[in-house]
Amino acid sequence: MATNVPSERKLREIEEIAAGWGKLLARESFPEGPELDVSLADMEDIVARATKAIVHGAVETMTADQAGRLGNQTACPGCGKMCELKRKSRTVTVRGGSANLDEPVAHCPTCRRDFFPSA
Ligand SMILES: [Zn+2]
Repeated sequence: MATNVPSERKLREIEEIAAGWGKLLARESFPEGPELDVSLADMEDIVARATKAIVHGAVETMTADQAGRLGNQTACPGCGKMCELKRKSRTVTVRGGSANLDEPVAHCPTCRRDFFPSA
């Protein structure tokens, strides 16, 4: 695993925060508590939709922040010329849902090729 990922301690903190969001979600879904005709499957459906939304929002935010680190220009791997970085949107399936990634892509007019900047 990469060295710049959150520590186990930080991950436990994130889980505690998410558990708090779960309690808020329960109160938002049923401010007075669920009636007796609401099944466990009904509750699970609500949570599953919210979980997908969290995955979607978190992955898109993290990947956008990461892409922002690359700046607006990058060197062509072929000739070294600085080329403008653009973003190309792509939907990907991730664990727990999907996310739209704005992937950085550049075009070198000298080499006449598209390339993805390397980390
Ligand atoms: Zn080039």
